[in-house]
Order: sequence, then structure tokens, then C-alpha cells
Amino acid sequence: MKSKKRRQWPLLAGACLLAACAVIVIGKSPFGSFSSWNAVKDTPAAATPAPTPPPREALEFRMVDLDRGWVKYADGIEATEDGGGQWQPAAGDVAADEKAVDGSLTELLSLEAGSVSAVGSSPNPNPNPQTVTLGAAALPVKQTQFLTPRIGWALPANSKDAKNPLLVTADGGQTWVDGMTAEVKDAILKEKKHLQQLAKERELYATKEAAKGIMSAKWKLVPESAAPGDAVLVRHDEPGTITWLNKTYTLQPYGAGYFTYLPISMSAKPGKYPIGDQTLTIVPKKFETQYLKVTSEMESMKQDTARIAADQKKIDLARSKSEPEFLFSGPFVKPIEGILTTPYGYTRYVNGKYDSAHMAVDLAAKEGTPIKATNDGVVALAESLYLTGNSIYLDHGMGLFSQYAHLSELRVKTGDRVKQGDIIGLVGTTGFSTGPHLHFTFWAHNVQVNPDLFWNTTPFRWVQQAQAKPKG
Ligand SMILES: [Zn+2]
Repeated sequence: MKSKKRRQWPLLAGACLLAACAVIVIGKSPFGSFSSWNAVKDTPAAATPAPTPPPREALEFRMVDLDRGWVKYADGIEATEDGGGQWQPAAGDVAADEKAVDGSLTELLSLEAGSVSAVGSSPNPNPNPQTVTLGAAALPVKQTQFLTPRIGWALPANSKDAKNPLLVTADGGQTWVDGMTAEVKDAILKEKKHLQQLAKERELYATKEAAKGIMSAKWKLVPESAAPGDAVLVRHDEPGTITWLNKTYTLQPYGAGYFTYLPISMSAKPGKYPIGDQTLTIVPKKFETQYLKVTSEMESMKQDTARIAADQKKIDLARSKSEPEFLFSGPFVKPIEGILTTPYGYTRYVNGKYDSAHMAVDLAAKEGTPIKATNDGVVALAESLYLTGNSIYLDHGMGLFSQYAHLSELRVKTGDRVKQGDIIGLVGTTGFSTGPHLHFTFWAHNVQVNPDLFWNTTPFRWVQQAQAKPKG
């Protein structure tokens, strides 16, 4: 914003707005000549054209953004780029882009309509007052405009009496100031930041309707119904924590909301659980059983508990911290187009003995097949481990990790930033593996969740289809 460094107008009362003052003003200004209705006549020697003489009557105004707007006079238009602190003769057609700007502002603000705003909650009780409160006085106005529920401008009925072309409010019209104060400037900057956060979050949802449905709610569970092995994305409009199955999750700020994943572990009991003012429904799900035969040499691998424990320490450390933001915006992609040999959640028996539940997917493919990063993230660990062979953990932020095991070759190292689709390694059969395949896992807060939830979508799009829940 080029107007940031501009200085406030010196305090000039109406009475001294004469040519003598003008010299001082212009001499002090790093921006050369500018003017407002109370401003000054440039000297003929100056290169820029002479502005109009004060005082004069402002006819109408329009703010097109929180810092940009114009005031029309009988003899010309003046524009501001700092919310109304300073005004300059407008160059060109100032009104040309106004529809696009305040249209998108309205759209952004409509997303959270009904929700408590992060900036404060003073709704504007009267968007078109006849008088406004300036200090102790009630001042008649001929036009007012609010761009947000809190930030508004007013054109005094007798604008010749005012120091500045417009009065400004930052508290929804309860109090007004003549010109720009540090408080109002700060409030406008905060509101701008909030609008940027709304825009940033809006981008994550599939449609404007989906964004509005989620961003206008106090609490939102995405989705509202899940099965063991799933994850749920929770959004709240304020900071806080959620206790879920005896664990506490901190809501992290992102966009205009606060988020966490809730992993639904395999042991979660079907039923209804209150989360904030919402209800999470856990529905039952049946998983298949798989019987595997491995050589006795391979079977004995699992007995090297010291080696396994040492690896586990590294893995735990890598997954112990995650970036406190979503590192992706686009959909997750399958890392390879392999044949699904073991789906998620299979109860596995190895050589006739119960082994574990398979909390990942196995995708069989030729040795050397390139493996893509499922989405943007940071390499939390890329190392040769005993059971999982050459392994990669990618941090996608907010406690979500993807894991790639049994690789023949690693193409990234710990700390690397990757983009969705980057080749991070090659398919192999290193570690506890019966043949070339990719063992792929998603982790949400250290719980292995179902990868099928993520393909070609993101958690922000796990909004359920119209839930036609008949009442009663
Ligand atoms: Zn596997």
C-alpha cells in the first residue's frame, strides 16, 4: 500500500488554510503536491497542476475498499488511499473498479454472517443515520456508507464545517472521528487482515455455499458422521480445545477459523458424541480378515525388538511435531497407480497367528515405479528403517502425516519441502515385505486413518451430501 508512509496532514484549522500555510505543508510533504477540500493552492512554480481552492461543498462520496474511495465536488473528484486520512485530486476514472471491489467484500462478509466475528461484534444498528455522534455533538450527515459492520464513513451535511471530507467510525457507528486517528487506522488494518483470512479460508472449500455453510457456523464437524478408522475435521469460530476419547486436541488458527482433526480410532464405539454444540455420529464398520504366509526367516525379523524400538523412537520424534497450519490447498493424489493388495483395516494373520490390523493400504507395483508425494508438505523423516525399509514421513501440517514404506530408493531427505506429485522415491521391497509394493499410511495425530478418505479430495471437502434427516 503506497499510502502507508504518508504522513498525516498537519493540524491546520480552517482559518489558516491560506497560501502561506500551503508553502509549509508542501515543503514538509515527501509526496509533493496533494490537496483536500481544506487544502492549499499550489504555487505556480510547482510542476503539478493546481488543486482547487478551499473551502467547498462535497456532493457525494463512495468508499470502494477499506482504504480506497473518492469524494465528488462540483469541480472535481478527490481520492483517498488510506481510508480517508489524506486526499488527492483523482487521476483517471476512480469509479471504474468499485463494483468488483465492494462486491467481493460483501461476498466475503456474507460467508461468516451469523458467526461471531474475530474482530469484535458490534453490529451496525443503523446503516443510514441522519445524524452521527462526533464528540458530544450530533452532526447532521447527508450520506453514510458501511463497508463492514464496523467500518463506516459519513459525509457531513455541511461539509464546509468539517476538517476532513469524511467522518470515520470503527465501532459500527457508535462513535465517529473527523479524519484518521491511530485507533481507527488500527481497526481498519485489523478488518483488512480478517477479510484476507476469510478469503484464504474460502479458497479451501469446493463451493461458495459449502464455505458459507461451514464458516458461518459456531462449530462444524466435517463430516458429521464417521466410522472407526476415519478422521473428522472440526472447525470452531473461536480458539479452544476439544477432549475426544480421553485425549485433548487444541484448535489451531487457520483462515478465519480454528481447526483440528479428530482421529476416530478403530476402538471407537458407535454412538453419538457431543463436540461443541454439534453431535458426532460414529457408525459401525466391518473390516475383513487376511491370512498371509511368510518365510520363517522373515517371521523372525519381528523378534529384533531392540532394533524395532530404536526405529520407533526416530519415528515418534518425527511425528511429534507438525506445522501448525494446513500445508496443502489442493486434493491428495494416489502416490502410485498400483494394484490394491491389502486395503485399510484388514485384520491380519501371519502364518496362522494374529499379527495386527493393517492400518494402511498396500499398492503392488513394479520395482522402481516412481512414487509421488500425495500432497504438499515437509519431509519429517527419510531413512532406512528395519521393518518398513526405506521410509518417508511427510508432514502435511496440523498433525496430518503420510508415510511411504519399503522403497528401493529415497529421493528426498529430512527437512525437504515437497509439492503434490513430486517424485520422492521408488517402489521396492525393503524391510518386512513379501514383494515390491508401496505400504502407504495416513496419520492424524498419531492415529493411522483410512487413506481412502483422501483420494482426489481434501478434508475441507468432506462435507456430507444433503443429509435428508427426517425429523422425529
Ligand atoms: Zn502394508
